[in-house]
Amino acid sequence: MSVIVMKFGGTSVADLDKIANAADKVKQEVENGHNVIVIVSAMSGKTNELVGWVKDSAPGNGLHDKAEYDAVVSSGENVTSGLMALRLQEMDIPARSWQGWQVPVKCTGHHEGARIDAIPSENIEASFADGTKVAVVAGFQGVMADGRTATLGRGGSDTTAVAFAAAFEAERCDIYTDVDGIYTTDPRIVGNARRLEKISYEEMLELASLGAKVLQTRSVELARSYRVRLRVLSSFGETISDNTGTLVCREEDIMENIRVVKGVAYSRDEAKMTLVSVADRPGVAAAIFRPLAEAGVNVDMIVQNISDDGRTDMTFSCPTDQIALAENALSRAQEDGELNFKELLNDPNVAKISIVGNGMRSQAGVAGKMFGILADEGVNIQVITTSEIKVSVLVDRKYMELAVRALHDAFELEKAA
Ligand code: ADP
Ligand code: ASP
Ligand code: MG
Repeated sequence: MSVIVMKFGGTSVADLDKIANAADKVKQEVENGHNVIVIVSAMSGKTNELVGWVKDSAPGNGLHDKAEYDAVVSSGENVTSGLMALRLQEMDIPARSWQGWQVPVKCTGHHEGARIDAIPSENIEASFADGTKVAVVAGFQGVMADGRTATLGRGGSDTTAVAFAAAFEAERCDIYTDVDGIYTTDPRIVGNARRLEKISYEEMLELASLGAKVLQTRSVELARSYRVRLRVLSSFGETISDNTGTLVCREEDIMENIRVVKGVAYSRDEAKMTLVSVADRPGVAAAIFRPLAEAGVNVDMIVQNISDDGRTDMTFSCPTDQIALAENALSRAQEDGELNFKELLNDPNVAKISIVGNGMRSQAGVAGKMFGILADEGVNIQVITTSEIKVSVLVDRKYMELAVRALHDAFELEKAA
């Protein structure tokens, strides 16, 4: 029998009424003749509350035991999966909840940001064979080889959903959320942002990795690798049939337009760190970024300044909640004699703004136009990075929303091409 994956995010399961509304949508797919794998997030706000409790219990600036963080923070999804299964049973739909270890969702890598390695399908398939129609899986969590629960990084339920769609060769992977699709930018910041009918895996991958939290980056990577038919749509509204949302698909499958810039993304919680006066010789960059990688710091932009007397400054950006982790790793490298910097500065008040579009591959001058628009608004650019299909800049956080709006307007993204 065909399998459909339906994922409901935090706002879509925020209380018992919302869970009932989501269960109605699941029922419609069951009545359409599908077996359904439902992936649920924690109730909105729950994961933040749990993270807060971890921080209050181990106030060591993010240096807590990550396996225990996972033990606590994964629990929100356990609650919603059980409640959803109960609600479906009340509607006479045979349903069973599954926590990560029960499936099992096998993970590797680091706690707090684990990767799904494999999802053996036997247990859930056996349950479908016994007549269960719906498997309600706790998103965001899995189990490490040593048996401990792991989480997949914030927003990780999207990745759970796509991984299940790939493992069960699902017909569709529908991500139900609080907006009715993927927009040219966050519709909460730009009122006239436009919903896209379709977006390519590559563009969505860039938007997600640059901060558009509507899909977790890893989920888009997996969807691209396994050719998962991935849709984002609204969980509000009555029926599932009049809900088109946005399809994430191959570039070749998008007929509409070859717009140069497709969307604008922002990432609010960025920090800029600068190592003042490090030696400018081979091996120094490795000596800086190796310990950072080993500590699990997600280094993003990197700039090395002009050398003066054989010494230089090295600047990089990372998420604000990893400042302590980064400082710790670099101070240790300094103590061990592997590094020799004069000072370590951090600015926790920056944001990253990016423009994304496949059309940038073939069109010159887009970066220049972006810088001009920001200059006209008086926004100073601190760091720049580019790739084939994106340009990102780091700016003072207080200009973030202004910059997003100005770029959206100037590239006329509100207009259908
Ligand atoms: P969920 O809890 O359902 O996973 P998220 O809050 O993680 O939902 O993601 C949905 C949110 O993503 C929207 O409410 C919206 O504010 C934000 N968002 C950011 N960029 C975009 C975009 N380009 N298109 C749509 N939503 C976006
Ligand atoms: N509940 C988790 C989070 O808030 C996972 C998710 O919602 O996707 O990050
Ligand atoms: Mg999300």
